[in-house]
Amino acid sequence: MTTAATKETFSFQTEVGQLLDIVAGSLYSNREIFLRELVSNASDACDKLRYEGLTNAGLLDGNSDFRIAIEVNSKANTLSISDNGIGMNHQDLLDTLGTIARSGTSSFLENLKQNQANDKDGENGENTALGLIGQFGVGFYSSFMVADKVDVLTRKAGEAEAFLWSSDGKGEFSIEPAERDQRGTTVTLHLKKDAKEFMEDARIRHIIKTYSDHIGFPVMLGEDALNEASALWTRPAKDISEEQYTEFYHHTAHAYDQPWLTLHNKVEGIVSYTNLLYVPSTPPFDLYEPERKSHVKLYVNRVFITEEAKGLLPAWLRFLRGVVDSEDLSLNVSREMLQTDPKLAKISSGLTKKVISELKKKATKAADEYSEFWKNFGAVVKEGLVEDASLRDKLIDICRFTSTQGDDLISLADYVERMAEGQEAIFYIAGDDAAKIARSPHLEGFRAKGVEVLLLSDPVDEFWLQHMPEFDGKPFKSITRGAADLDAIKSGDGDGDSDKSEDKKDEPEAAALDGLIAAIKLELGEIVKDVRPSKRLTDSPVCLIADEGDMDVNLERLLQRHGQLNSMMPRILEINPGHAIIKKLAERASGDGAASDDLLKDASHLLLDQARIADGEAPTDPAEFSRRLTSVMQSAL
Ligand code: ADP
Ligand code: MG
Repeated sequence: MTTAATKETFSFQTEVGQLLDIVAGSLYSNREIFLRELVSNASDACDKLRYEGLTNAGLLDGNSDFRIAIEVNSKANTLSISDNGIGMNHQDLLDTLGTIARSGTSSFLENLKQNQANDKDGENGENTALGLIGQFGVGFYSSFMVADKVDVLTRKAGEAEAFLWSSDGKGEFSIEPAERDQRGTTVTLHLKKDAKEFMEDARIRHIIKTYSDHIGFPVMLGEDALNEASALWTRPAKDISEEQYTEFYHHTAHAYDQPWLTLHNKVEGIVSYTNLLYVPSTPPFDLYEPERKSHVKLYVNRVFITEEAKGLLPAWLRFLRGVVDSEDLSLNVSREMLQTDPKLAKISSGLTKKVISELKKKATKAADEYSEFWKNFGAVVKEGLVEDASLRDKLIDICRFTSTQGDDLISLADYVERMAEGQEAIFYIAGDDAAKIARSPHLEGFRAKGVEVLLLSDPVDEFWLQHMPEFDGKPFKSITRGAADLDAIKSGDGDGDSDKSEDKKDEPEAAALDGLIAAIKLELGEIVKDVRPSKRLTDSPVCLIADEGDMDVNLERLLQRHGQLNSMMPRILEINPGHAIIKKLAERASGDGAASDDLLKDASHLLLDQARIADGEAPTDPAEFSRRLTSVMQSAL
């Protein structure tokens, strides 16, 4: 590598600039966290070198006594944090302290701005910005909350050259060659006038004890170690306070919410391990990124191995944070080899079962708390139904659903228990918008009869349903496909007291209805598969249904959106014989001159388009739709 022998100046990536503005402008009350961030980086640097040293002992150069040192220089008004970890070379400095090499940066910043805009009085602003910044892992830049200049003197383990990175946080930074005897990094903060308090001995001790006690390396101030310096998960649970658990979660997960659930266990067996796992109380921002990365850190005998251990946990548990440490895994193999170790698979299945059983406990004993969890992570948990057949029965037990019967989340067992007499199937309606499907006309007949329908609005729902055709012997049935088997079901105690769908008095003569159906079929031709009277409608005039053997409407839409389907199957148009419009149209259809009745023709298309609109789709031909609507309105006025 060639590096310039003199000082070079660089501009911060635009996003970093924006971030620095936010940091400088909005994080006043809690600025002591800069120290936690810098100590956390120092600890990560030691972790990294300890791991590299396993396969390349030369890097350690005989010194594996890792430590972090804080120094105050009250004459120079500086505070410095040093480590003897992995260090950075010229390229590392460019890559890490000047750019943000993460996907989703601009959407993150957008989100941050949004949060600040929504909170003009500033009441939650600091915490929200802090939470988001922490989650995004841009901790180093928090130095500029307390410093008007930051120097980073660093030398990478195994390399001879050292560099000095320097910036006032105002758009530019410089890098120049420098001298440093040992590997590692020293971050020196030139403290702002109003930040001198951070040179006080007691203040520093207090901050380290509060935020960094769990760090596995000693944090020294002069001769004293300020922290416990034993990895938190290795201590007995009874010696750990809730605050300590929370602080460790913040450190290890880059999160600032409260953990929703903490699982600290020591498992002894053929493969022994300790887990300290957390379920967050707010969804991490990368939850739905296509990589579906795990974030639980894997340690082997207290040595950090990787944060992205494939095979440690299934993808549907990617919301978990925390660490897993095992003495029984081999330290002397590469990360890739480790991932195929059968012992890792054993740990994985043990952890998975443990998490499911703890979730089940919550679901049964604290339903309200569980609802919070389910709203955040339910859609992810349901991926497990698709991906792991062996867990399906256990998992479906902890799945919760919304339904037409109130706001509470229900289990499938709840649903089956209150099925109406004569009801054979578990009815559901699927779509991408919960509020929209809850208002769908398809539900009218079910509501009137008091028959409960599950409202499924996660994309994953269509996929697990393919793998789980039934629950407890009852088949799942979409109410937007096939016949509505409502006749066989006894009226429950639903919201309608009269059984409107069976109320035939008010319907047109059978012959007139047949005439209307024939006329609509003739006019719409191939666009629809069939036209028939509906049993599921009470208030709306029309709806669209997929034929029994065809794909359900929502699945079809989903596949089309993902480019896996070119055209949609024609659907069945169901008309409501009890509706005033349908009655009037039936009269017209049986009158003279029906065949040349333009209004009847326009109405046929309008009915179809109306049904499409109710499903959240566009009219087949918007221009024609508009012309027909105008013409029909004109004749009505
Ligand atoms: P994060 O720690 O989440 O990656 P930071 O903004 O805290 O984000 O740090 C950015 C990067 O800078 C780190 O990932 C690391 O590569 C590098 N870095 C920061 N401090 C140090 C250090 N003391 N030693 C080595 N590398 C460091
Ligand atoms: Mg950091």
